[in-house]
Amino acid sequence: MRAVIVSKPGTASVESVPEPICAPDGVIVRVERCGVCGTDQHLFEGDYGLARYPVIPGHEISGAVVEVGREVSSVHPGDHVVIEPNIHCEHCSYCRTQRGNHCLDLRVIGINQPGGFAEYVQAPERNIYVVAGLSAAQAAFVEPLSCVVHGVRRLALQPGSRVLLAGAGPIGLLMLQTLRRSGAAAIAVTDLHTFRLELARRLGADACLQAGAAASAALREVAPLGFDAVIDCTGIPQVVESLVPYAANGGKVLLFGVAPEHAQMTIRPYELFQRDLTILGSFAVAYTFDAAIVLLEAGAVTVDGLVTHHLGLDGFVSGLTAARAGEGALKVQLDPALAT
Ligand SMILES: [Zn+2]
Ligand SMILES: [Zn+2]
Repeated sequence: MRAVIVSKPGTASVESVPEPICAPDGVIVRVERCGVCGTDQHLFEGDYGLARYPVIPGHEISGAVVEVGREVSSVHPGDHVVIEPNIHCEHCSYCRTQRGNHCLDLRVIGINQPGGFAEYVQAPERNIYVVAGLSAAQAAFVEPLSCVVHGVRRLALQPGSRVLLAGAGPIGLLMLQTLRRSGAAAIAVTDLHTFRLELARRLGADACLQAGAAASAALREVAPLGFDAVIDCTGIPQVVESLVPYAANGGKVLLFGVAPEHAQMTIRPYELFQRDLTILGSFAVAYTFDAAIVLLEAGAVTVDGLVTHHLGLDGFVSGLTAARAGEGALKVQLDPALAT
């Protein structure tokens, strides 16, 4: 089968590799869509600690089941499915306390196990979710939306909250819509790109501001005492640093965007102390696939307009470049059935 191989950081090519052989508890999925995400960028650049090379990347996978192992009973050939990429050991202390995203032996499809930028991919039965009501393009958003749901649960917003969201890329726009269903009464969004801000406005943002010096005064006008929650969806340490002062006293700051592995930022402990601030991280997916599927199937979160690039496997590197540049690009999805 054809697959994208990242042989080492900075080197990717489409190659012919053996198809996966179905394990007794395994499910083989013919990939229909697989989203390119910021994590793939980090994996390609060599600054994502969990990655192991060579690897077939791709962890935002939707497709159709073509084969199941002899122990598999809940999934059948022909089912349209999405794959939870995190494979937990189920035995360690974290797995036994419902914190499987911190599994001590975490294997991740598309990071250190063969992923979805390929014609076929294998996952254990327990990582498969049937999504009858979603198109393949919609279903490939279940994984990133699951990460967003985990982040929003970590935030535990109270009804009536004012929220500041930095970054209106694909994740920011999923976050925006999830927040609106989770207690946020007013949401201000900042981004560099006006087309993203326009989409944010259509998807329910109350104030949309171009990031930069002028945004500062405008944000103070929107929320003179600051925001109950401030969320970074850029992963840029300088942006995160600049966001902390916008949290109201007693507010929360959620670091959701993935920063480079060794990046550092400065925080004044005294500010956390004196202002009762809470800083939160949010790693991957934590039993949130079902909620993400409900949000999409119910139309509470829409992905209309989010896919700007529908490319073949050959489009991996150009898709990363387009997504990074940002202008005119939101979600890039690869489709192994497309020639280029
Ligand atoms: Zn991702
Ligand atoms: Zn474990």
